[in-house]
Order: sequence, then structure tokens, then C-alpha cells
Amino acid sequence: MVSESFTQLKRAYASGRTRPLAWRRAQLDALRRMIADHRQDFIEAETADLGKPAAETVLMELNLIAAEARFVRNRLGLWTRRQYKPMPWSLQPAQGWTIAEPKGVVLVIAPWNYPVLLALEPLADAIAAGNAVCVKPSELSPHTSTLIAELIAQYLDQEAIAVVEGGPKETGELLDCDFDHIFYTGGERVGKIVMAAAARHLTPVTLELGGKSPCFVDSTVNLHTAARRIAWGKFSNAGQTCVAPDYVLATPDIAEALAKRIAVAVTEFYGENPEASKDYGRIINDRHFERLLKLLPAGTVPPQEPSSPLIKAASAVGAAAEMVGRRINAGIDAIGSHNAQPSVAEKQQQQTEIMPIPGVIDSAGRVVCGGKVDRETRYIAPTVLFGTQPDAPVMGEEIFGPILPIVVVKDADAAIRFINSRPRPLAAYVFSNRRAVRLAFERRTSSGSLGYSLTLAQLLSSRLPFGGVGASGMGAYHGKAGFETFSHIKTVVSKPQFPDTLQLVYPPLDELRTGL
Ligand code: NAD
Repeated sequence: MVSESFTQLKRAYASGRTRPLAWRRAQLDALRRMIADHRQDFIEAETADLGKPAAETVLMELNLIAAEARFVRNRLGLWTRRQYKPMPWSLQPAQGWTIAEPKGVVLVIAPWNYPVLLALEPLADAIAAGNAVCVKPSELSPHTSTLIAELIAQYLDQEAIAVVEGGPKETGELLDCDFDHIFYTGGERVGKIVMAAAARHLTPVTLELGGKSPCFVDSTVNLHTAARRIAWGKFSNAGQTCVAPDYVLATPDIAEALAKRIAVAVTEFYGENPEASKDYGRIINDRHFERLLKLLPAGTVPPQEPSSPLIKAASAVGAAAEMVGRRINAGIDAIGSHNAQPSVAEKQQQQTEIMPIPGVIDSAGRVVCGGKVDRETRYIAPTVLFGTQPDAPVMGEEIFGPILPIVVVKDADAAIRFINSRPRPLAAYVFSNRRAVRLAFERRTSSGSLGYSLTLAQLLSSRLPFGGVGASGMGAYHGKAGFETFSHIKTVVSKPQFPDTLQLVYPPLDELRTGL
């Protein structure tokens, strides 16, 4: 099935059907029609998969795909034109230009958290560049995956655009194929599998990964607005957003006030009981749900009701041991994650720069709001933690859920050192009105993107490239960056045969010409 699909795409690409601009425009128009016609179906599929609120599906996915498809469609003519470049005198007379040619047959592997957006936005860019495309949606969002497969077969050119559904097995089979580009969005572990597999065929890759995106706040900003923007970025899609602010680094003068303001923003957004809010999502599956519970301060969530007295006793001992372990574990690395921990010297410095909060005994911090969960529906309330320590489990791995730790940090310099002691994140956010502070973050930290006084919204523009750096990925897309990712920029030079000025470099070469 997988290899047949791939062979078909190869054949379609070789036939040249994907190259004409008319084909590309027709596919992009059909993609937009598909989104418009089946808006409700997408909303329902995402609600079934993720409990995703309808407004989030429309605003954060469907509208963005339609906008991207329109943006690239309207600029195709410009981007596919010859781009003439001035030639050096040594090559005169000559003309030189670049031309964007499609890469060929490309693979798009999508994750589950924005399952429509992250499958169809790269698809739009790949079509714009004139490729045959295979899309592999995530098996963890099965309703959306099936819908994407059905609709693409119905709306787009079946010869040149295919969907392969399935999990690691099917993805593994796809990775055995000789694609001309692989575009992967997801976690770092699978990113490494994808890159290793691509290396076998020397296939170029784009890796859109994640990481712990920091958010710095100091006293120069309006805390009310900062809190609302942070709460929106963090708790949209129940925190399962690659560019969500993972944790806050706040200066001591405003840290506690900020924590309280974020709690107020949560109530303003989702009401007193977010569980009943139509605007608040759920955790994708039990594995992620249980993983997230372990990041909360010990005792926040009552242990599952044990069935026998023996298990009851064992579980009580376990909980007590966990609590003790957390307290004495301050020097031990956080749970296994891709985030390499700071060096010993960096840790020593952090000890003087990260403020402990009197009365906060768990390294995860104190619960300011939230902490309520429901296993049945995989609900975790928007949770704010205050006074979190760097060695807490919640500061080890990418949280990817609705838990927001606030680390109190001496000042902006200490925050920069803290960020630089960890792998480079997908995004960094700075809420400060001091120009020097903003510039310091811009010049001294590295991240996929940087937002001043906002969260998430940097990815809304098709005019700005979107991608990671270091552990958060490589390559970029959106708009022209996406078009170029799926294109080979070919250099063409044309030189008239007469006069044959190249004879200046033909052997035998004399001193005059070489300067030797
Ligand atoms: P996921 O589990 O849906 O996996 C992503 C894709 O990899 C899926 O299509 C899946 O089938 C495939 N896959 C899973 N295991 C595999 C294996 N062993 N071999 C081959 N393929 C395999 O998604 P995820 O990894 O849970 O996604 C969450 C991560 O993605 C987070 O780290 C998040 O930050 C990141 N993310 C990044 C972006 C971005 O744009 N940079 C966007 C969304 C998510």
C-alpha cells in the first residue's frame, strides 16, 4: 500500500502534471473550497479527537490554512519567475539567474495537536512549489486523520496528492521510500528517527520540533495585559501548543502579582469552573494525561482509588516517598527529556539567581490556581504554579499541557543565563518595556522566534518564516519560506559563445593571467 502510493506519486511527478502554475492554483483553490465546505466536519473531528473548542479549530487552524493557501497562490507567479542576478566582470558578457524548481515527491508527517493545520499548511506550501505530496496525519487524532484522507481524495488531484494513514509502522514504511524532501512536525525523539532515515537516501529534511519556550516578565509592563496574553498562549488547546509559553521567568518585584493576575485571567476566560467552559480543551490521551499529573506538586491530585487495602497501603507509602524524594531531589536532574540540564557551574550560579519562595516546599512550586483534574474526561484545569525551582520535574521536559510554572529570577541577565543554559527553544517571549532588556534578549538568546509583549501570534503571518533552531528544529515554512523549503533554487548562467572570453582561463596559463 505505502510503496504503491509512493510509486504512483513518482509517476505523477515524472509526468510533469504538478509543474504548471495552473495546476498549482487549481489545487490551492480546491484546498480552500474543501476547508470552507467541511468546516463543521473538521470542528466535529477535532472535538472527537481532542475535545477542541470549535472556535479554536476555526481561528487557529481552518482560517490560517485558507489564508496561507490564498497567500501563496497569489504570489506563485512572482516566485517562480527567473530572478536575475548581476554577473561579475570576469564572467562578462553573461546573464545569470535563479529559478525555483519543485523538489519532486515530498512527504509531510503531521502531529496530533493541530492536526488539520499542521497537515494542510505544509501541504499548501508543497503544492505551491509544484510537488507531488504524500501527507501522513497522526494516528493519535484518528477522526481528523480519516477526514483528511477522505476529503483530500475527493477535492485534490488523486494522482499527485495522497494521504497515508497510520502510526509508527506505516511511517517507518514511508521513511524507507526515496522521497525528495521530508517535512516533519512533532517531538524530538521521532525527529531523530526521521532524520536518520532520511540520511539513508540523502533526503533533505525540515524538522518542526518543540521545546521549553520561556517567557520573561519584568515590572515595566502592564501586568493585566501581560497576564491575559500569557494565559491565552498557555491555555489555548489545553497547553498542547508547540509555541506555548512553557514557563515564566518573572522578576521578584512582580512575580507573585503576575501569578495572581494570570489566575484572574483564567477565570475571565473560562469562568469559575473551566471544566464547563466551551472554550477549554482536553488532554489528547491517557499517556499524556498521566505524564502531566506527575509534573504537579505532590499531593495536588489525589491518587487513584486503590481497590484493596494492600494496594491502598502501598500507594500511601509511594505518595509519601514521592513527596520526600521531590524535596531532597533539588540537585538531581529532572526526568529524562531532551532538555540537557545546565552544567555544575551554571547550576551554582542559578542557585544565587533563582529566588526560593518562603513556605514553598515542593520544587514544582505552590498551586496558585487550578490543580483540579478528571481522569474520565482527561481534564486538567488551567494550573499556575508559583516559586518553581529549576530542578523540578516540571522544568525538565516540555510540558505540553495546561501547567504554567513561574520561576522567580533575580533580573533580566539572570533570565538570559537561565535560557542559555538550556537547549534552544522554539519561541521566547519578553514582556519588558526597557529597550536594553529587549535588545539583550534579541542579541544574546537564540530561539526559533521571539515575541515582544505577545505569545503565539508571531506565527499568524504568512510573511514571516516559522521554524526552530537547534533542538527545536531546522528549516522553516509559511509563505515564501515554505515555498522555498519545497523548492530547489537552481542557478542558471548563460554566456554567449562569441566573444570567447573564457579563453583567458584556458591552459597553458602564463604569469600575466595567473599573477603567480
Ligand atoms: P505525534 O505523536 O503525533 O507524532 C508526530 C508524527 O510522528 C505522527 O505522524 C506519528 O505517526 C509519527 N511517529 C510517531 N512515532 C513514530 C516512530 N516511532 N517512527 C516514525 N514515526 C513516528 O506527535 P508528538 O511527537 O506527540 O507531537 C508533540 C511534539 O511536537 C511536541 O514536542 C511539540 O512541541 C511538537 N510540535 C511542534 C510543532 C512545530 O510547528 N514546531 C507543532 C506541533 C507540535
